Amino acid sequence: MEYLPNIIFAIILISGIGYFASNVKKLIRNIKLGHKVDANDNKSERWKNVINIALGQSKLVKRPVSGFLHAIVYVGFIIINIEVLEIIIDGLFGTHRIGLSVLPESVYGFLIGSFEVLAVLVLVSVIVFWIRRNVIKIKRFLSSEMKGWPKSDGNIILYFEVVLMCLFLIMNATDTTFQNMEAGNVISQFIAPWFNGLSEGTLSVIERSAWWLHVVGILIFLNYLYFSKHLHILLAFPNVYFGKVVPKGKFNNLEAVTAEVKLMMDPDADPYAAPPETSEDEVPAKFGASDVMDLSQVQLLNAYTCTECGRCTSECPANLTGKKLSPRKIMMDTRDRLEEVGKNIDANNGEFKDDGKQLLGDYITNEELWACTTCNACVEACPVSIDPLSIIVEMRRYLVMEQSAAPMELNTMMTNIENNGAPWPYNQMDRLNWKDEN
Ligand code: SF4
Ligand code: SF4
Repeated sequence: MEYLPNIIFAIILISGIGYFASNVKKLIRNIKLGHKVDANDNKSERWKNVINIALGQSKLVKRPVSGFLHAIVYVGFIIINIEVLEIIIDGLFGTHRIGLSVLPESVYGFLIGSFEVLAVLVLVSVIVFWIRRNVIKIKRFLSSEMKGWPKSDGNIILYFEVVLMCLFLIMNATDTTFQNMEAGNVISQFIAPWFNGLSEGTLSVIERSAWWLHVVGILIFLNYLYFSKHLHILLAFPNVYFGKVVPKGKFNNLEAVTAEVKLMMDPDADPYAAPPETSEDEVPAKFGASDVMDLSQVQLLNAYTCTECGRCTSECPANLTGKKLSPRKIMMDTRDRLEEVGKNIDANNGEFKDDGKQLLGDYITNEELWACTTCNACVEACPVSIDPLSIIVEMRRYLVMEQSAAPMELNTMMTNIENNGAPWPYNQMDRLNWKDEN
């Protein structure tokens, strides 16, 4: 029975990590439903982006208040969790503060003292975040797509962080060995007096309870990530790496279609010239995208990485002028549909069974797609290099090329280009008529 706590700890740890690993496997399977993307180009620029944008959070600090607070929560949370290493070793081997046996007391004290200061900074930042969401009610957190689960998710994660930080401080404050050491209890020394008068035994029960709850809380947090917008803590890095490194306005035009258009627009083009060579792989089975499987793996990774921060929507001119378009919703819809497809595959022994639904129509409407001005403001605003515009363009491509379902104005323009070589409804021969008008 002496080893019972260690056995229980090992079971909890293995179950927590095992469930997380199974969800990561599912996540990778779902992302792989998209088309492969060759990202072997510009490797140095990609790594530079990871360091600046994902690690350095360079785009977040463009809004200094939230950027600064986010940096504190991010850095604080990651660093404090280094302490989990000690917890795991203690839990598995029945030691107590193993760090003290391997590090000089002053170094250990400095580390835990820094963690305590960071814990308080995280607590303050999280409280400010909560006030911004629930008291000040910042506009970008109130859009229609932020009702229900997305709203609760934003708050749940804040409560999680408060609880974890408090447990960490209480654990230190009630640990008499640590308090007697008088090194590292920078913050917890002020909490310790709250427990004055309690017996050694009671203090130990409180310390052990905080310790267990802290470690279980971390494992719950880890597993909660998959169901939350906080998956970006992990995915921001690969997402930024695979992000667009060509100029933002450059589209991934289809070779064959581009050649046709050039032929149509260029009066000197040789209509009998051989068409550009295209391999079997280059001719898509379907033009554009109507469902998540038609998107690329990077676009699906984008969907899982979206933090639902709404920076894109808050800068979208279509949204700002009252149109029914929110680039954030485009990303949230893509993730929701991808999850739906993933569950369908799970329920049908690894095969997708047609459910009569798709991203286009059931999640994203034509009206939303055609409201986009393709200005790229959303791409520029996104702190984790997500490209909602590329999904919009792919779905528009499907509407135009597979369904001929472009808005009337666009159809007229395209017919004019086809017939007259220009968007206007005038014969090419009449182009210079204006000079005879007076
Ligand atoms: S590209 Fe489209 S979705 Fe993005 S900000 Fe501009 S109008 Fe909005
Ligand atoms: S796409 Fe980017 S900017 Fe828009 S909500 Fe998601 S993370 Fe925020």
